[in-house]
This record gives sequence, structure tokens and C-alpha cells, in this order.
Amino acid sequence: MRPTYIDKTLAALPVSPNLVEREALCRTFSWEGPRRELAGLPGGGINIAHEAVDRHALGVWRDQIALRLLAVDGTCRDISYAQLSQLSNRFANVLTRLGIGRGDRLFVLCGRRLELYLAVLGGFKVGAVVSPLFSAFGPEPIATRVKLGEGALLVTTESLYRRKVAGVRSEMTSLRHVLLVGEGDALVNPPQGTFDLASLMAEASDEFAIVPTQVDDPALLHFTSGTTGTPKGALHVHGAVLTHYVTGKYALDLHPQDIYWCTADPGWVTGTSYGIIAPLLHGVTSIIDEAEFDAEHWYRILQDERVSVWYTAPTAIRMLMKAGPELAHQFRFPDLRFIASVGEPLNPETVWWGVDVLGLPIHDNWWQTETGGIMIANTVAMPIKPGSMGKPLPGVEACIVRRLADGSVDVLHEPDTIGELALKKGWPSMFCAYLGQDERYRKCFSDGLYLTGDLARCDADGYYWFVGRADDVIKSAGHLIGPFEVENALMEHPAVAEAAVIGKPDEMVGEVVKAFVLLKRGIEASEALRAELLGHARKRLGAAVAPKEIVFLPSLPHTRSGKIMRRLLKARELGLPEGDLSTLEEGT
Ligand code: ATP
Ligand code: MG
Repeated sequence: MRPTYIDKTLAALPVSPNLVEREALCRTFSWEGPRRELAGLPGGGINIAHEAVDRHALGVWRDQIALRLLAVDGTCRDISYAQLSQLSNRFANVLTRLGIGRGDRLFVLCGRRLELYLAVLGGFKVGAVVSPLFSAFGPEPIATRVKLGEGALLVTTESLYRRKVAGVRSEMTSLRHVLLVGEGDALVNPPQGTFDLASLMAEASDEFAIVPTQVDDPALLHFTSGTTGTPKGALHVHGAVLTHYVTGKYALDLHPQDIYWCTADPGWVTGTSYGIIAPLLHGVTSIIDEAEFDAEHWYRILQDERVSVWYTAPTAIRMLMKAGPELAHQFRFPDLRFIASVGEPLNPETVWWGVDVLGLPIHDNWWQTETGGIMIANTVAMPIKPGSMGKPLPGVEACIVRRLADGSVDVLHEPDTIGELALKKGWPSMFCAYLGQDERYRKCFSDGLYLTGDLARCDADGYYWFVGRADDVIKSAGHLIGPFEVENALMEHPAVAEAAVIGKPDEMVGEVVKAFVLLKRGIEASEALRAELLGHARKRLGAAVAPKEIVFLPSLPHTRSGKIMRRLLKARELGLPEGDLSTLEEGT
């Protein structure tokens, strides 16, 4: 394995009171600690909504702002913990009245509006299994997921219903009710077979006794991003709240006085675990912005809302980088003290950009829909190695393995050996099923380990480095090439805004590396630039690993959760069927 090209290590930030001695904490950590810190339901059992909201609504944080909702029309609405508790009780009463209860599946298809939070929390309160969907989904992806999940109730907005749901409603035979969120005043004539949520909420009581769910009762159904194929439905339990709590503390360093902004779409697991649950568990104020991405608008939110902890994704940061540092320099971020990123490899260039432009490094962390919460992270209490995902969090044991033909695995202890990233089973937010795919679920486990499908290496200091998805790794003349490393080298060039590489079949060497490059604003594609980039990559990576071909594209295909869809670039390159594109971001 060649060493990574960046060997700069950022000094640790001042150690947070949350994490005085990280290594010692990791050694002595037991899930019993957080279990005691969380309240549990008064009569026994555990429920995410109780831990996230009701427990605070009875205590010192009752008047603290839980959600600050920034609407597209420029208005702002604050909801306190006490209000959120009452409103989600009302929602739970509405569900109960409609006969929705324990084990029923509740789908939510609406943007970042208050009703989304009420539906998720109210759903937990009645013991239903909640599944948020991307509101940008078209009718087919919606129907497919509701059918697969046997959804009993759908919460959506009036316009999304008319545009996307009405036409496929008859296909979704499990669906008993649709609750409509009015976009203006109360709905005068809800379409046939739907209820006006506002009217039902107005009639409902503020009091609700949470259904006594237990640690292993299902709470959430999340579909994966579909980066490598058809999205899978991963089921999570109420006990996952322990992971959300611990990771909110150690990976995101949340404190009750924080103003926190998670930019993830609510239709993606990050939008729930860290857009709803973890911040509420820690009593912070979350900024909820309804608008679409716009660089200036985002900088304005960071500045004007005095965001202190920001959780975002590499694609978003790359878009800010593309907009240029001049724009960023028009704003000031004195309150911002911690930035984290997830979803895709975070290029070292991006970490350094954070230091240069925002005044703070960006902390990469790794997890998956299946893991339910952050597993590996750069935390406040350790030096960052830019380009690395960081170290396993307390309560998480990771290793690098090789799968053997008989289905067992070999653990590879030698530092820097590339293999599949695996996690010791048993963390609380581990998925408990792939919906309708038992065999596939079973195949994810071997010898007490969960096999992640990602390739990585662990260095001598215990930092994990992402190499690529097992499906994306390129085999060229006996070399194993991780796309991330090649993309990093391209990203280092000042003209490059984003890069994606694939393996293109080649008779001589098996595969050659082909790169697709998006240039920064104002930079013209030219043969000279192509030659320069090829030369730059060769110098950085050596001839065997550097791309043989570079194509300039006006945009790269992304999933709605912001991941580059390399499989689509590859399918297009090879003229193969494009596969499941339900999660493809429009216009990419
Ligand atoms: P599908 O499983 O349907 O192909 P997906 O794997 O993209 O989609 P998610 O669960 O949303 O769906 O994404 C998890 C994956 O994202 C990880 O397995 C990993 O490949 C990638 N990922 C997440 N965070 C990071 C990170 N910090 N560095 C590198 N890769 C990351
Ligand atoms: Mg996956």
C-alpha cells in the first residue's frame, strides 16, 4: 500500500469537557453508562420520543428552543421542548384515533416542516415504525417504498399528494390513511380518502401516554442511498437511541447551549438520526432551513443564526468551495466551534479549506444506513489526519478483514493492510433486518462481525482510511486502486471542483482508471488543462494508478443524499442498463 500523499496532522483542538481522556474512555466504556443517563419510560421500557423530548419537557429545558424553523418565505418559528412534547402528543392522539399503533408503518413525505418532526415523534409515541422519504422522489419510488414497507399511513403535503401520490395511491393497497399537511390555511376540501391534519390536530388532546416500547421494538425504517444498486430497507429499533445519545456527545460534541444545524435531507438516515433525534437528546436548539442549497444563503444562516455545531456533507462543502472564498469572506462565523461531515469520503483539500476559509477543520466521520449512527469519527479530542475517517467511537470495535471462500473471515492485524471494514456486532443502533431480504441480511455477518462492504485500512495509530466501496475498487495490472485516492489527487489541482473515477475494462491490464471532472466556476475545459491534470495525477500517484483518460463534465451524478453515483458513470461508459435511479438527484 502506498502511503497517503498528505502527512500533515492537525493539532488537537482544546479538549472538550465531554471527552477528557479519549483512549481511557474507549477502554472503560460500557453501554450501561448511557443507559443510566437516559431516563427510560416511567413504567419501564424505552421510547426514542420520550428520551428526545418528553423527558426535557418536564425538566429544566422545558422552555429551551428545540427547533427554529426558517421557512422559504423568510419567516421564522421557534418551538420549545415543552411545545414539541405537546404537539407530538397531539399527533400521537390523531394516529391513535385513526387506528395506527404498535408495529404499523408510517411514511412521511414532506420537506423540513414542523409536521415532519411531529410525525416522526408522534409515530414513535404510538409504537409505529416511521419511514421518512425524500420529498423530491417521484411517484414510482414513493409507491415502491410504501409497498415494500407495507405502509399503513402516509403523511404528506397537499401539493405533494396531488402531484406525486394521487396517481399511484391505488397501487399502495396497504395504505389505510393519508394525512395532508395544508400549505396555506386549513384545507377546505381535502381530496377524497385523505384527512386534513390541521383539523384533526385541533381536536386532539395535548396529553398522551407513550406506548411502552422495549429496546428491540422496531422504530425506524430507512432506505439506503442506492449508490451501489437498488436501495435496501434497513430496520432500526428504539434501543438505537443509546447510539444517538453517545454519538451526539462524542462525535458531534453537542451541549445544551449549542445552536446546531444538520443540513441532511430528512429522507436520508442522517436527517433522522442527527437531524432529529441526537440534537433533541442533548437539549440543543436545531436550525431547520426549508430552502434548497444556495452558497450565500448557507453562509448567512451560519453567521446570523450563530450556529455553533454544523453537520454537513462533502458534496455541500465542495459546492461552497466552488463558489469561491471571496463569498465566504463576506461573512463571519465567530460562534462556529465544530464542523463534521458524513456520507462520502472527505477529501483532505476540503479539510484544509475549512481551516483556511471557515477557521476550523472539518471532522470526517463514517457510518451507514445499516449502522444507524456514527461509528468512526474524528472527534474534538484527537488530532485530525486529513483524509482519514478517524477512530472508532466508544462502544464501537472495528477491524479490517478478508472474506474467505467458506464464508468465514480473516482479521488482518498488520497496519495499513487494505481489506473490508468490519464492526463487532452488538452496538445498539445496528439494523435488525433488511426488509424482505433475510438471506441478504444474514450474509452481512460472519464470525460475530458485521461486514460493511467498504474497503479501508487502519494505520499504526488506529486511524481508519477509506479506500472505496468494494464494488468501486479498480483492479489494474495487479494493483488495487481505491477511487478515493485518485479523486483526492485530482481535487488537489486548483482547477478541480469535484472528481469521480471508475475502472474501464482494458484487455491488457484488466481495468484502467478513467476520471470525470467538474471544473471550478469560471475555468474553461481545454486540451491543455486535460494534459496538465493527467500530468499532475501521474506525478502524484505514479503511472500505474493515475487516470489514463479524463473527461470534463458540467455536473456529476449524485444521489439525493449527496453521493457520487460512480456506478451510473460506469454504466453510461459501458453502455449498460442504468439500473435503479430512484435516488438520483435531478439534473445530475
Ligand atoms: P447503497 O447501500 O444503497 O448502495 P449507500 O451505501 O450509499 O447506498 P448509505 O447507507 O446512505 O447508502 O451510505 C453509506 C455509505 O456511504 C458507506 O458504506 C460508505 O461507502 C459511504 N460513506 C459514508 N460516510 C463516509 C465517509 N466518511 N467516508 C467515506 N465513505 C463514506
Ligand atoms: Mg450501502
